[in-house]
Amino acid sequence: MKVFKFGGASVKDAAAVKNVAGILGMFPGEKIIVVISAMGKTTNALERLVDALFYKKENPANVLDEIKTYHFDIIGQLFPDGSHPLYDEIHNCFVELEWALEGEPEQSYDCEYDQVVSMGEIIATKIVSAYLREAGVKNKWWDVRDFIKTDNTYREGKVDWELTEQMIVSQLVPHLDAKENNIVVTQGFLGVTSENFTTTLGREGSDYTAAILAWCTNAESVTIWKDVPGVLNADPKWFDDTRLIAQLSYQDAIELAYYGATVIHPKTIKPLQNKKITLYVRSFLKPGEPGTMIRDEQAPLPIPCFIFKIGQVLISISPKDFSFIVEENLRDIFDLFYRHGVRINTMQNSAISFSVCVDNNERKLPGLIETLQKNYRVLYNEHLELVTIRYYDQATIDRVTTGKKTLLEVRSRYTVQMVMKNK
Ligand code: ASP
Ligand code: MG
Repeated sequence: MKVFKFGGASVKDAAAVKNVAGILGMFPGEKIIVVISAMGKTTNALERLVDALFYKKENPANVLDEIKTYHFDIIGQLFPDGSHPLYDEIHNCFVELEWALEGEPEQSYDCEYDQVVSMGEIIATKIVSAYLREAGVKNKWWDVRDFIKTDNTYREGKVDWELTEQMIVSQLVPHLDAKENNIVVTQGFLGVTSENFTTTLGREGSDYTAAILAWCTNAESVTIWKDVPGVLNADPKWFDDTRLIAQLSYQDAIELAYYGATVIHPKTIKPLQNKKITLYVRSFLKPGEPGTMIRDEQAPLPIPCFIFKIGQVLISISPKDFSFIVEENLRDIFDLFYRHGVRINTMQNSAISFSVCVDNNERKLPGLIETLQKNYRVLYNEHLELVTIRYYDQATIDRVTTGKKTLLEVRSRYTVQMVMKNK
């Protein structure tokens, strides 16, 4: 059994959906669980819809109309016959959304968010599944919330692995084991609580869904179909002449994802590593090419890899009385970062100050800084870049630091991180 994951870009318009059918056509007779994300930028649009509902900066009806038009445009191109039952089905999904938007929100922001935003995946999978059938790719649409059980941490659902495995082994596996069934189409990103509320697994969480399903079914491999040729040694958005890495160890893949390489969601790799399930990252634009293979191997990366983050803030924290930073302060400081939900990208300690580099999150940072200022002297520097180089050498460091001033550098055996600003 294989698990394929198609992200938003791979189903962003009618041509893209047709392309998915083409890719599946390359694997006749194979048992495949197909995990699909919301189409194109739908999740962002649905986030706007939730914001409109809560903060009233925009009229929710307008945002919903936009989302509706986008999807019905795609459906119109895929199903010229307007009497196809899919029209009604998708129409009903939007009616459900309209109900959710009526009156004042009843649940917390995060809970409402999950109930609304999840519709992107539901709609996308219904469209793709119906189109595949139309194109002769027999498949069963399945609601992933039948399997993936989480706690009620909305927007960041924690998977109940035991229960999830049980559900998958008792329902999904027997279905796919039957000779006549090959393809199941289901949603990425979603889970469900024991009270039947929808949860989401964190932005870009569909890769993680693919890993969960693969782990629970003991799949032979997971393939993430992307709009890039595979894992590159740098994001082409920031660097020219990037190179494809043909093979990668789980460990390096975890490190790259952890430091912010956006090609794979960081939570995806560990479950696969535990069961030695190979992960492929391949191009849906060039499905004939092998892409990147991630598996259990010792070979280090053949070339240095760069991860580049902009919009960074460097915060320096020191005790007000100029005393040393001691364990007690660190405990305090970490606790505040945790409580404000601010993730630390890199950090360094010295005798009298503790420096931390974080994303400039306008919703979270001001509150954190204000609280820190009660007990500490806090200096901060905005508009910075953070570069992480895995398997660095001097030449690559020189290459990224030209014209920049380095404010902080953290080096370990394989990885260097530098916080820099333009000179
Ligand atoms: N649609 C969700 C998102 O955009 C999940 C995913 O794409 O993986 O975050
Ligand atoms: Mg996405």
